[in-house]
Amino acid sequence: MFDVIVVGGGPTGVMLANELKPHGVDVLVLERDAEPTEVVRARGLHARSLEVLDQRGLLEPFLALGRRHPLGGYFAGTTKPAPERLDTTYPFVLSIPQTTTERLLVEHATAIGVEIRRGHEVVGLSQDDHAVTVELADGTRLRSRHLVGCDGGRSAVRKLAGIDFPGEPSRTETLLGEVELTASPETVASVVAEVRKTCLRFGVAPFGEGLHRVVVPADGVAEDRTTPPTLDEVRRQLRAFAGTDFGVRSARWLTRFGDATRLAERYRSGRVLLAGDAAHVHPPTGGQGLNLGLQDAVNLGWKLAAEVNGWAPGGLLDSYQAERRPVAADVLDNTRAQMLLMSAEPGPLAVRKLLAELMRFDEVNRHLVEKIIAVGVRYDFGEGPDLLGRRLRDVTLERGRLYDLLHEGRGLLLDQTGDLSVAGWSDRVDHVVDVSGELDVPAVLLRPDGHVAWAGDDQHDLLDHLPRWFGTPTT
Ligand SMILES: Cc1cc2nc3c(=O)[nH]c(=O)nc-3n(C[C@H](O)[C@H](O)[C@H](O)COP(=O)(O)OP(=O)(O)OC[C@H]3O[C@@H](n4cnc5c(N)ncnc54)[C@H](O)[C@@H]3O)c2cc1C
Repeated sequence: MFDVIVVGGGPTGVMLANELKPHGVDVLVLERDAEPTEVVRARGLHARSLEVLDQRGLLEPFLALGRRHPLGGYFAGTTKPAPERLDTTYPFVLSIPQTTTERLLVEHATAIGVEIRRGHEVVGLSQDDHAVTVELADGTRLRSRHLVGCDGGRSAVRKLAGIDFPGEPSRTETLLGEVELTASPETVASVVAEVRKTCLRFGVAPFGEGLHRVVVPADGVAEDRTTPPTLDEVRRQLRAFAGTDFGVRSARWLTRFGDATRLAERYRSGRVLLAGDAAHVHPPTGGQGLNLGLQDAVNLGWKLAAEVNGWAPGGLLDSYQAERRPVAADVLDNTRAQMLLMSAEPGPLAVRKLLAELMRFDEVNRHLVEKIIAVGVRYDFGEGPDLLGRRLRDVTLERGRLYDLLHEGRGLLLDQTGDLSVAGWSDRVDHVVDVSGELDVPAVLLRPDGHVAWAGDDQHDLLDHLPRWFGTPTT
């Protein structure tokens, strides 16, 4: 009997396991594929993902292997640069292949003792009052107290748990691959610039090792999107859109993706939960899906660990859906809007022009960029100061830096007064007395995911708020 089985060893599943394990949770990751994929879907990590990695002390290798790019152009491909002074230490997009992100997360998981079983496909699932039973393709059965489906957009867990996935099916499809070309870089660049005047779903970009990343609309929508396109299909579509196939001659890998936009009607059914693409799918415009999944994992991890460890207050686990589903719904809507804005029809083109004009206003530009990089997310914790429910950016303290204090994944009372106490919760909440010129409240109580659960200087008020997130005090 495991505490938690995570189905799916993609970025969401491994991040979640990494959040659970340090709390003593006996977690097992089941991954269908025997080997890691070489298909590179996501190529960027946005500010909030960099922050959550920083909060756990995992960021350094990502920064070392990624490249920092300016944030401008992330909303429907508009060329406006990002506003200055974004409220984050990471006002850039870190360009890093999804395969590298996955490798780094797995390396950390292995280092902290998470067991990942590859080549294990989940095909059956049932639950009773005490546990979930999963059945693997080879007939093996395993039991756990909780199970989280992080098994991607076609999630078997979601289907087996009977959770609906309403939304829109794919209406367009795009071919993607890493290929070798014979055309000169100058020819490629000038043809691409011309095609992108009317088709923003087109791109051919060199990325080293003599390879190019090719993105080109497909001819219709394939019945079975799990079958990769052939090189001939890519060649045909390049000719159709660019008038040349750039001498494409071999591919390292090819894949296809659609623009289906769907949101799970619930994130939980009893002991079964969903996270990442298993809970939400949308087109990749703005590069948000993997980021959303990492942030789901960081929201869910400490709550599920609290449940397993027996101190979760009533409703804590359900707050996962209450907080994260609206965030995903908002991402779905912004990708719907971006897809419309990227159409070459006269109406959308006119709206796009208008939006580009509006983005000259700093507040508009900031609002849209903060949506994409997810630093503007505010969970609804009820009445309170504006800070309540928001994540706190990293701030410099007299004796260090805030995010270094969150590495253990525990709650934190950052107390600038020195008069407060978390006695009774000190096994779950750290109390640090320090000051920061960047923090204009006397004290903040942070949840393990870095969101502000309380702010003020009144010990009685603090005592009223601690149980909501950290359960009953020990005597
Ligand atoms: C072209 C493209 C570009 C993208 N660009 C970006 C970007 O720049 N930024 C961004 O944030 N996002 C981007 N995305 C989205 C991103 O790739 C996904 O959101 C992300 O992979 C979701 O991670 P996940 O772990 O939730 O699911 P997945 O990555 O799909 O992982 C699910 C895992 O579950 C396994 N699995 C499936 N079924 C089973 C089963 N029955 N039993 C056991 N294991 C199973 C799979 O093998 C897989 O390893 C892009 C997507 C595409 C298609």
